[in-house]
Amino acid sequence: MRLMRLWIKDPLAILAPRAERGLVIEGARIVECVARGQSPALPYEATFDASRYVVLPGLINAHHHFYQTLTRAHPAGQAKELIPWLVAMERVWGRMTPETLRIAVRMALVELLLSGCTTAADHHNLFPPGLENAIDIEVEEARDLGLRMTVTRGSMGISEKDGGLQPDSIVQDSDTILEDSERVLKLFHDPKPGAMIRVALAPCSPLAVPKRVVAESARLAERHDCRLHCHLCQSLDEDVYSVERFGVRSVDLLEEAGWLTPRTWVAHGIHFNPGEIERLGRMGVCPTKDLEAAGAAIGLGVDGSASNDSSNMMEAVRHALMLQRLRYGPSKVTAYDALRWGTEGSARCLGRDDIGRIAPGMQADLALYTLDEPRFSGAQDPIAALALCGAHRADRVMVAGRWRVIDGAPEGIDLEALIAKHKAAARAFA
Ligand SMILES: [Zn+2]
Repeated sequence: MRLMRLWIKDPLAILAPRAERGLVIEGARIVECVARGQSPALPYEATFDASRYVVLPGLINAHHHFYQTLTRAHPAGQAKELIPWLVAMERVWGRMTPETLRIAVRMALVELLLSGCTTAADHHNLFPPGLENAIDIEVEEARDLGLRMTVTRGSMGISEKDGGLQPDSIVQDSDTILEDSERVLKLFHDPKPGAMIRVALAPCSPLAVPKRVVAESARLAERHDCRLHCHLCQSLDEDVYSVERFGVRSVDLLEEAGWLTPRTWVAHGIHFNPGEIERLGRMGVCPTKDLEAAGAAIGLGVDGSASNDSSNMMEAVRHALMLQRLRYGPSKVTAYDALRWGTEGSARCLGRDDIGRIAPGMQADLALYTLDEPRFSGAQDPIAALALCGAHRADRVMVAGRWRVIDGAPEGIDLEALIAKHKAAARAFA
């Protein structure tokens, strides 16, 4: 017996070609787009009236640090450059426990979901004693809420005792990192289409772990068919440090370790030189129009809540639009570019061709927005309006064919109780 079919009918607008009358989903997948003047070719059992909604593919968050939701707008982190900021905040994050991590993760996932995000990557690199099972906690929470996730087994391995920046208490030795990477890959990584959980390996940066961890991670990724991720060239002082300590820039360190392959996506990538843009273009990942022109995938991520400090994917789309216009000029970057980066582009970063677009055969991951607020009133192009007028909240969100947000509220979550619990947990990090 086949699964029930649902026609999401007559949307106000939809970001998909030849789907003016909506789409039909069966189980977890999209089976049909319905063009203007048509009706579904397949029989269907139910309809959802989408006439109030702008329908997008679910947004995909390519980079985050969920644990940081407990240290938003933290006084120790304000008015600092990257490295002093990290040094100050890592002393605070070292207090993370399994209980506080769980509540931080839940808050980040709920926040993302409410903004229209259906798949999230989290770069978890914090493993103080007692928090060895951090990845297990993240997977449990994602499964509970029904979001798709690429959970990255991050790592930090060079601490103060080795002349590094991290406090000794939050780093792990290379054997522990590599053994646990393999453990979580075996336990949770699902490379199949439609996967709800994938694992990627993600040293914090090529500067934060011994070279062996970077190189062995690449080998493990080949063996388990998973992605590789790290921060790269996120501030100018990062490369000053890299040249001082390793004698080369961080892109060179990655290349030496066998990371410049289509398996890798990197976060930030702001300070590449022209030669590096060409090399990364060939590799297949990174931001800005130049990189896109060089063949790279551009995705969007909200980043950790100690630096953003919110986890709103639609806000990230708008920020990308504004910042890239500042760089390239308003005629070169459109709202549709920014929306593409936050959906298809992020999907490419995560190595997925089953999400990020609305088309038959794709997973039924959707974000539906109303344009009822004053900020949208009079908008002519409903899709562009989401980015240009600043949409913040999705009214309905579907992941793998199931509604996870209804009328702006997350299914099965008492939001008030969650906020109260999260606020209480954050007191331990003041
Ligand atoms: Zn980050």
